[in-house]
Amino acid sequence: MSALEIRDLHVSVEGTEILKGLDLSVNSDERHALMGPNGNGKSTLLAAIMGNPKYTVTQGTITFDGKDVLSMEVDERSKVGLFLGMQYPAEVPGVTNSDFLRTAINARREQPISLFKFIKEMDHAIDELDMKTDLAHRFLNVGFSGGEKKRNEIVQMLLLKPQLAMLDEIDSGLDVDALRIVSDAIMHAQEQTHCGLIVVSHYARFLDYLKPTHAHILVDGKIVVSGGPELIQKVDSEGYDWVEKEYGVKA
Ligand code: ADP
Ligand code: MG
Ligand code: MG
Repeated sequence: MSALEIRDLHVSVEGTEILKGLDLSVNSDERHALMGPNGNGKSTLLAAIMGNPKYTVTQGTITFDGKDVLSMEVDERSKVGLFLGMQYPAEVPGVTNSDFLRTAINARREQPISLFKFIKEMDHAIDELDMKTDLAHRFLNVGFSGGEKKRNEIVQMLLLKPQLAMLDEIDSGLDVDALRIVSDAIMHAQEQTHCGLIVVSHYARFLDYLKPTHAHILVDGKIVVSGGPELIQKVDSEGYDWVEKEYGVKA
Protein backbone atom coordinates (compact mmCIF):
# COMPACT_ATOMS: atom_id res chain seq x y z
CA MET A 1 0.00 0.00 0.00
CA SER A 2 1.53 3.31 -1.08
CA ALA A 3 0.03 6.67 -0.39
CA LEU A 4 0.74 10.13 -1.69
CA GLU A 5 -0.33 12.84 0.76
CA ILE A 6 -0.29 16.50 -0.24
CA ARG A 7 -1.22 19.15 2.31
CA ASP A 8 -1.60 22.91 1.81
CA LEU A 9 0.78 22.94 -1.13
CA HIS A 10 1.86 26.34 -2.41
CA VAL A 11 4.08 26.48 -5.50
CA SER A 12 5.55 29.47 -7.33
CA VAL A 13 6.99 29.72 -10.81
CA GLU A 14 9.32 32.62 -11.49
CA GLY A 15 7.95 34.50 -8.50
CA THR A 16 4.25 33.99 -9.30
CA GLU A 17 2.21 31.79 -6.98
CA ILE A 18 0.46 29.11 -9.08
CA LEU A 19 -0.64 26.56 -6.48
CA LYS A 20 -2.34 28.22 -3.53
CA GLY A 21 -2.99 25.62 -0.86
CA LEU A 22 -3.71 22.33 -2.59
CA ASP A 23 -4.67 19.10 -0.79
CA LEU A 24 -4.74 15.65 -2.39
CA SER A 25 -4.44 12.02 -1.25
CA VAL A 26 -3.84 9.14 -3.65
CA ASN A 27 -3.56 5.48 -2.60
CA SER A 28 -2.49 2.29 -4.38
CA ASP A 29 -4.95 0.95 -6.95
CA GLU A 30 -6.83 4.27 -7.13
CA ARG A 31 -7.27 6.22 -10.36
CA HIS A 32 -7.66 9.97 -9.93
CA ALA A 33 -8.78 12.11 -12.84
CA LEU A 34 -7.43 15.65 -12.48
CA MET A 35 -9.39 18.17 -14.53
CA GLY A 36 -9.72 21.92 -14.73
CA PRO A 37 -9.48 24.80 -17.18
CA ASN A 38 -6.12 25.35 -18.87
CA GLY A 39 -3.49 27.36 -17.06
CA ASN A 40 -4.75 26.66 -13.54
CA GLY A 41 -1.85 24.55 -12.26
CA LYS A 42 -2.37 20.88 -13.18
CA SER A 43 1.03 20.44 -14.83
CA THR A 44 2.59 22.63 -12.13
CA LEU A 45 1.35 20.19 -9.48
CA LEU A 46 2.87 17.18 -11.24
CA ALA A 47 6.15 19.02 -11.88
CA ALA A 48 6.37 20.00 -8.20
CA ILE A 49 5.77 16.39 -7.10
CA MET A 50 8.61 15.22 -9.38
CA GLY A 51 10.94 17.99 -8.17
CA ASN A 52 11.34 20.05 -11.33
CA PRO A 53 13.65 22.88 -10.16
CA LYS A 54 11.64 25.59 -11.98
CA TYR A 55 8.82 25.05 -9.49
CA THR A 56 9.43 26.37 -5.98
CA VAL A 57 7.45 24.95 -3.09
CA THR A 58 6.93 27.83 -0.68
CA GLN A 59 4.59 26.12 1.79
CA GLY A 60 2.98 22.77 2.57
CA THR A 61 4.02 19.11 2.53
CA ILE A 62 4.21 16.17 0.14
CA THR A 63 4.82 12.69 1.55
CA PHE A 64 4.90 9.30 -0.13
CA ASP A 65 4.58 6.27 2.11
CA GLY A 66 5.23 8.67 4.95
CA LYS A 67 8.56 9.80 3.48
CA ASP A 68 9.18 13.50 2.93
CA VAL A 69 9.22 13.92 -0.86
CA LEU A 70 10.20 17.59 -0.76
CA SER A 71 13.56 16.78 0.84
CA MET A 72 14.39 14.27 -1.93
CA GLU A 73 16.47 14.95 -5.04
CA VAL A 74 14.76 14.29 -8.38
CA ASP A 75 16.44 10.89 -8.84
CA GLU A 76 15.40 9.80 -5.34
CA ARG A 77 11.79 10.60 -6.18
CA SER A 78 12.01 8.31 -9.16
CA LYS A 79 13.65 5.63 -6.99
CA VAL A 80 10.80 5.64 -4.47
CA GLY A 81 8.47 4.98 -7.39
CA LEU A 82 7.15 8.32 -8.60
CA PHE A 83 6.74 8.59 -12.37
CA LEU A 84 5.58 11.40 -14.67
CA GLY A 85 4.42 10.79 -18.23
CA MET A 86 4.90 14.23 -19.70
CA GLN A 87 2.54 16.46 -21.63
CA TYR A 88 5.41 17.42 -23.95
CA PRO A 89 8.05 14.65 -23.92
CA ALA A 90 11.51 16.00 -24.77
CA GLU A 91 13.51 14.83 -27.79
CA VAL A 92 16.97 13.59 -26.84
CA PRO A 93 19.25 13.24 -29.88
CA GLY A 94 22.18 10.84 -29.38
CA VAL A 95 20.50 8.67 -26.73
CA THR A 96 18.56 5.66 -27.95
CA ASN A 97 15.26 4.80 -26.41
CA SER A 98 16.58 1.47 -25.13
CA ASP A 99 19.74 3.00 -23.60
CA PHE A 100 17.65 5.66 -21.90
CA LEU A 101 15.27 3.08 -20.46
CA ARG A 102 17.93 0.64 -19.33
CA THR A 103 19.79 3.44 -17.54
CA ALA A 104 16.56 4.59 -15.87
CA ILE A 105 15.72 1.05 -14.74
CA ASN A 106 19.23 0.36 -13.44
CA ALA A 107 19.31 3.63 -11.51
CA ARG A 108 16.47 2.24 -9.43
CA ARG A 109 17.92 -1.24 -8.78
CA GLU A 110 20.73 -2.67 -6.68
CA GLN A 111 21.77 -5.11 -9.44
CA PRO A 112 21.53 -4.11 -13.11
CA ILE A 113 18.73 -5.78 -15.07
CA SER A 114 20.02 -8.57 -17.33
CA LEU A 115 20.15 -7.63 -21.00
CA PHE A 116 17.98 -10.64 -21.83
CA LYS A 117 15.28 -9.67 -19.37
CA PHE A 118 15.42 -6.02 -20.44
CA ILE A 119 15.01 -6.82 -24.14
CA LYS A 120 12.15 -9.18 -23.39
CA GLU A 121 10.32 -6.58 -21.31
CA MET A 122 10.95 -3.78 -23.80
CA ASP A 123 9.76 -5.89 -26.75
CA HIS A 124 6.70 -6.83 -24.77
CA ALA A 125 5.88 -3.21 -23.89
CA ILE A 126 6.40 -2.03 -27.49
CA ASP A 127 4.12 -4.80 -28.66
CA GLU A 128 1.47 -3.97 -26.03
CA LEU A 129 1.45 -0.33 -27.19
CA ASP A 130 1.26 -1.51 -30.83
CA MET A 131 4.36 0.49 -31.79
CA LYS A 132 6.92 -0.16 -34.52
CA THR A 133 9.65 -2.57 -33.44
CA ASP A 134 12.50 -0.24 -34.46
CA LEU A 135 11.40 2.16 -31.73
CA ALA A 136 13.89 0.70 -29.23
CA HIS A 137 16.86 1.66 -31.39
CA ARG A 138 15.81 5.17 -32.35
CA PHE A 139 16.95 8.28 -30.53
CA LEU A 140 14.57 9.12 -27.70
CA ASN A 141 11.47 10.83 -29.14
CA VAL A 142 13.44 12.26 -32.10
CA GLY A 143 11.14 12.39 -35.13
CA PHE A 144 8.40 10.54 -33.23
CA SER A 145 4.87 11.64 -34.11
CA GLY A 146 2.82 13.24 -31.33
CA GLY A 147 1.02 9.96 -30.75
CA GLU A 148 4.26 7.92 -30.74
CA LYS A 149 5.74 10.21 -28.09
CA LYS A 150 2.71 9.65 -25.88
CA ARG A 151 2.77 5.89 -26.37
CA ASN A 152 6.48 5.92 -25.59
CA GLU A 153 5.76 7.53 -22.21
CA ILE A 154 3.59 4.50 -21.44
CA VAL A 155 6.35 2.14 -22.62
CA GLN A 156 8.51 3.84 -19.97
CA MET A 157 5.78 3.38 -17.38
CA LEU A 158 5.47 -0.34 -18.17
CA LEU A 159 9.21 -0.87 -17.80
CA LEU A 160 9.77 1.32 -14.75
CA LYS A 161 6.78 -0.10 -12.84
CA PRO A 162 6.18 2.98 -10.69
CA GLN A 163 4.25 3.01 -7.41
CA LEU A 164 2.57 6.25 -8.41
CA ALA A 165 2.15 7.11 -12.10
CA MET A 166 1.14 10.62 -13.12
CA LEU A 167 0.06 11.04 -16.74
CA ASP A 168 -0.23 14.59 -18.06
CA GLU A 169 -2.59 14.86 -21.05
CA ILE A 170 -1.18 11.60 -22.33
CA ASP A 171 -4.28 11.25 -24.50
CA SER A 172 -3.78 14.40 -26.58
CA GLY A 173 -2.61 13.55 -30.08
CA LEU A 174 -3.99 10.00 -29.90
CA ASP A 175 -6.63 8.77 -32.32
CA VAL A 176 -9.56 6.66 -31.11
CA ASP A 177 -7.81 3.30 -31.61
CA ALA A 178 -4.65 4.54 -29.88
CA LEU A 179 -6.72 5.84 -26.96
CA ARG A 180 -8.02 2.34 -26.37
CA ILE A 181 -4.57 0.75 -26.69
CA VAL A 182 -3.00 3.25 -24.31
CA SER A 183 -5.75 3.02 -21.72
CA ASP A 184 -5.74 -0.79 -21.81
CA ALA A 185 -1.98 -0.76 -21.25
CA ILE A 186 -2.31 1.64 -18.31
CA MET A 187 -5.07 -0.45 -16.70
CA HIS A 188 -3.06 -3.63 -17.24
CA ALA A 189 0.03 -2.07 -15.66
CA GLN A 190 -1.99 -1.00 -12.65
CA GLU A 191 -3.45 -4.49 -12.21
CA GLN A 192 0.08 -5.87 -12.03
CA THR A 193 1.78 -3.20 -9.92
CA HIS A 194 -1.17 -1.81 -7.91
CA CYS A 195 0.23 1.66 -8.49
CA GLY A 196 -1.81 4.76 -7.80
CA LEU A 197 -2.65 6.88 -10.84
CA ILE A 198 -3.18 10.60 -11.39
CA VAL A 199 -4.43 11.29 -14.89
CA VAL A 200 -4.77 14.80 -16.28
CA SER A 201 -7.22 14.81 -19.17
CA HIS A 202 -10.02 16.82 -20.71
CA TYR A 203 -11.53 13.94 -22.61
CA ALA A 204 -14.46 11.95 -21.28
CA ARG A 205 -13.81 9.16 -23.77
CA PHE A 206 -10.31 8.49 -22.43
CA LEU A 207 -11.57 8.72 -18.87
CA ASP A 208 -14.41 6.30 -19.76
CA TYR A 209 -11.80 3.71 -20.69
CA LEU A 210 -9.71 4.37 -17.59
CA LYS A 211 -12.62 4.22 -15.15
CA PRO A 212 -11.34 6.72 -12.57
CA THR A 213 -12.21 5.98 -8.96
CA HIS A 214 -11.90 9.68 -8.04
CA ALA A 215 -12.16 12.97 -9.91
CA HIS A 216 -10.98 16.46 -8.97
CA ILE A 217 -11.36 19.91 -10.49
CA LEU A 218 -8.44 22.27 -10.03
CA VAL A 219 -9.18 25.98 -10.40
CA ASP A 220 -6.84 28.85 -9.54
CA GLY A 221 -4.29 26.71 -7.75
CA LYS A 222 -6.64 24.69 -5.56
CA ILE A 223 -8.76 21.58 -5.86
CA VAL A 224 -12.22 23.07 -5.47
CA VAL A 225 -14.40 20.03 -6.12
CA SER A 226 -13.69 16.33 -5.60
CA GLY A 227 -15.98 13.42 -6.29
CA GLY A 228 -16.39 10.29 -8.35
CA PRO A 229 -16.77 9.59 -12.08
CA GLU A 230 -20.07 11.54 -12.21
CA LEU A 231 -17.96 14.70 -12.02
CA ILE A 232 -16.32 13.79 -15.34
CA GLN A 233 -19.69 13.50 -17.07
CA LYS A 234 -20.77 16.84 -15.64
CA VAL A 235 -17.63 18.57 -16.93
CA ASP A 236 -18.08 16.88 -20.30
CA SER A 237 -21.62 18.19 -20.71
CA GLU A 238 -21.41 21.52 -18.86
CA GLY A 239 -17.77 22.64 -18.89
CA TYR A 240 -16.36 24.53 -15.90
CA ASP A 241 -18.56 27.65 -15.63
CA TRP A 242 -20.69 26.06 -12.91
CA VAL A 243 -17.59 25.42 -10.77
CA GLU A 244 -16.64 29.09 -10.88
CA LYS A 245 -20.19 30.14 -10.02
CA GLU A 246 -20.92 27.58 -7.30
CA TYR A 247 -17.55 27.82 -5.58
CA GLY A 248 -16.78 31.48 -6.15
CA VAL A 249 -13.47 30.91 -7.92
CA LYS A 250 -12.13 32.46 -11.10
CA ALA A 251 -10.10 30.43 -13.60
P1 ADP B 1 -2.40 23.55 -16.59
O1 ADP B 1 -1.55 22.34 -16.65
O2 ADP B 1 -3.53 23.48 -15.61
O3 ADP B 1 -2.90 23.98 -17.93
P2 ADP B 1 0.06 24.87 -15.82
O4 ADP B 1 0.42 24.25 -14.53
O5 ADP B 1 0.82 24.43 -17.02
O6 ADP B 1 -1.52 24.76 -16.06
O7 ADP B 1 0.25 26.44 -15.72
C1 ADP B 1 -0.27 27.21 -14.65
C2 ADP B 1 0.27 28.63 -14.74
O8 ADP B 1 1.67 28.61 -14.45
C3 ADP B 1 0.12 29.25 -16.11
O9 ADP B 1 -0.18 30.61 -15.92
C4 ADP B 1 1.49 29.07 -16.72
O10 ADP B 1 1.76 30.08 -17.66
C5 ADP B 1 2.40 29.17 -15.51
N1 ADP B 1 3.62 28.36 -15.70
C6 ADP B 1 3.69 27.02 -15.63
N2 ADP B 1 4.96 26.58 -15.86
C7 ADP B 1 5.70 27.68 -16.10
C8 ADP B 1 7.09 27.91 -16.39
N3 ADP B 1 7.96 26.90 -16.49
N4 ADP B 1 7.47 29.18 -16.57
C9 ADP B 1 6.60 30.21 -16.46
N5 ADP B 1 5.29 30.07 -16.18
C10 ADP B 1 4.83 28.83 -16.00
MG1 MG C 1 -2.60 27.97 2.42
MG1 MG D 1 -0.92 21.24 -18.29
